[in-house]
Amino acid sequence: MSYVIGYKCTLCHEEFAPEAIEYTCPECGEKGILDVLYDYKQIKKVMTKEYLKDNSEQSIWRYLPLLPLESTYLDRTLKVGGTPLYKSEGLKNVLGLKELYIKDDGLNPTASLKDRASVIAVVKALELGKETIACSSTGNAASSLAGNAARVGLKTVIFVPERAPIGKLTQLLIYNATVVSVKGDYGETFGLSKKAIDHYGWYNRNAAINPLMVEGKKTVALEIAEQMNFVMPDWVAVSVGDGCTIGGVYKGFYDLIQIGLIDRMPKILGVQAEGCAPIHKAFHSGKPVEPTEENTIADSISVGIPRNPIKALTAVKESGGTYVAVTDDEILAAMALLGRTEGIFGEPAGVTGVAGIIKAKEEGFITENDCVVTVITGNGLKDVINGMKASGDPIKIGPDLASFIEKYEPIIAED
Ligand SMILES: *Cc1c(COP(=O)(O)O)cnc(C)c1O
Ligand SMILES: [Zn+2]
Repeated sequence: MSYVIGYKCTLCHEEFAPEAIEYTCPECGEKGILDVLYDYKQIKKVMTKEYLKDNSEQSIWRYLPLLPLESTYLDRTLKVGGTPLYKSEGLKNVLGLKELYIKDDGLNPTASLKDRASVIAVVKALELGKETIACSSTGNAASSLAGNAARVGLKTVIFVPERAPIGKLTQLLIYNATVVSVKGDYGETFGLSKKAIDHYGWYNRNAAINPLMVEGKKTVALEIAEQMNFVMPDWVAVSVGDGCTIGGVYKGFYDLIQIGLIDRMPKILGVQAEGCAPIHKAFHSGKPVEPTEENTIADSISVGIPRNPIKALTAVKESGGTYVAVTDDEILAAMALLGRTEGIFGEPAGVTGVAGIIKAKEEGFITENDCVVTVITGNGLKDVINGMKASGDPIKIGPDLASFIEKYEPIIAED
């Protein structure tokens, strides 16, 4: 039995019974993205610290009381969540922080945080008796949906913009999704997917329409809280495209406050790429979000028309956090730094949070006395072309010791 008691529109604030809802607010239409409401009083009785201590489930299903699903199909899915939270030494010292923790969500089954949402979508589709599930995506939502759907025997139709990196495209094809590569940007791709989904009656995984996707993504915050023994950090830094991930981070901590497992919300740092920063701009100007160009190597957050701006802005405002924007060069530098100091390889959008911490420290938001958590949202092997840009070239020589010594000695001299 799920503890969902209804939905609340983020735009008009109207509340609806669970049965009345398909995806968005019946009054506001597509812009009326909904929040899922839970019976926290009941959940509080069930999901105690003891409950979690005695729970041997290592996937996100350990948080089932806070998820909008029945238990029927859970044993059929890929194992999503339960990713490590590393206490940093190397990167912490370089950044000059009191404490730094790194949540490596690139270790999910299809190698990004998106699995947390996709696995919810496929279970919901099974509950609803759907056979096909669809979405449009810059890459990870799609590859993640395709993998999670393959595991439970659902068909997938995926709409991707032309520019999706080859690693993500390959994942889609291996998971046997029907892939429609659209000559157009993400906005146009999204529009087409919506029309096709309406036409065929498929289940819709588009994060900005389906209110359950934030519920999946919030499990990253539930895990962070539990892994930190319910002692909250000062900041949590996360990259922002559509705004669903950051909305999920906020919702996870919010839920835990409601059921009394933590006592305060950490400040949330939203990080966008300078070449595509509509939410960052809106946050600091106080004006509505305006469509912008999509001009960054961080393809997963290259979203010129963000679909979840209300949740993305609310999360940061309510938490007392802020937004920063970083350049592509700063993202590449963060990628190399993270790999070098921590042995973690993130894709560009995956390490944008790290670049954001550096920026927020320069701008005086984060200080050396702060404890910070950052989420690596996607694995670097998805986009090795940008990885090579960040890393530089290997040593190139002929097979003789003298040339090796000639190249190698200056390297160790530098150490
Ligand atoms: C999707 C994604 C994000 C951003 O999530 P939004 O919900 O679009 O804000 C960040 N990093 C990676 C790797 C992603 O795939
Ligand atoms: Zn509404």
